[in-house]
Amino acid sequence: MQRSYQVIYETLFNHYGPQNWWPADTPFEMMIGSILVQNTNWRNAEKALTKLSPFLEPEMIDRLPIEELAELIRSSGFFNIKAKRIKAFIDWFKTYHYDIEEIKKMNRQGLRRELLSIKGVGKETADVMLLYAFDKPIFVADAYVRRIFHRLGYDIPTSYDGLRERVEERLPNDLVLYNEFHALLVEHAKQFCRTKPICDGCPLFDSCDQRLD
Ligand code: SF4
Repeated sequence: MQRSYQVIYETLFNHYGPQNWWPADTPFEMMIGSILVQNTNWRNAEKALTKLSPFLEPEMIDRLPIEELAELIRSSGFFNIKAKRIKAFIDWFKTYHYDIEEIKKMNRQGLRRELLSIKGVGKETADVMLLYAFDKPIFVADAYVRRIFHRLGYDIPTSYDGLRERVEERLPNDLVLYNEFHALLVEHAKQFCRTKPICDGCPLFDSCDQRLD
């Protein structure tokens, strides 16, 4: 039986508890992490963040030669491309004097447009930054979400924004809810709804079609 997104959220929340994401110490670290994690897992991104930690201030990364930056983030894969992306992001951030509070004053739509205009910042990266660094309620419609909702039995739009808007239309515009929901879905994809799912004991078992195609 298909449940509402709100019920899915509440079921996951009751099972896993509050997640208090993102796994980074500062909003700046979180934003750099969101670029490092592209096309890899968080473990590799975290290794790169650790190496980068003596330089985790925007001014320092701005001054760091790109070759040195690339070498420091090697463990995240595609390190030359990611170094360019981080530099492009820093160039944009610099136009706001690295002031996160100033950027937060922008509306969600305008800020999303700006983030998407940065080379190497795609929709998922932009939305993660909007949600976890700039406090904008937005649903991150990543591959984990797509996998879980498909298996549960939802007919989901094929495009990224189609899925994001579909969920947002049915949930309250609540920052904490979006923050937690994304983190809970990632946790669920790791613990139960893996590539090869562990359906035994899954908190969503009763409302899942187990569509594994
Ligand atoms: S019952 Fe299985 S397929 Fe359905 S959400 Fe749980 S782990 Fe995924």
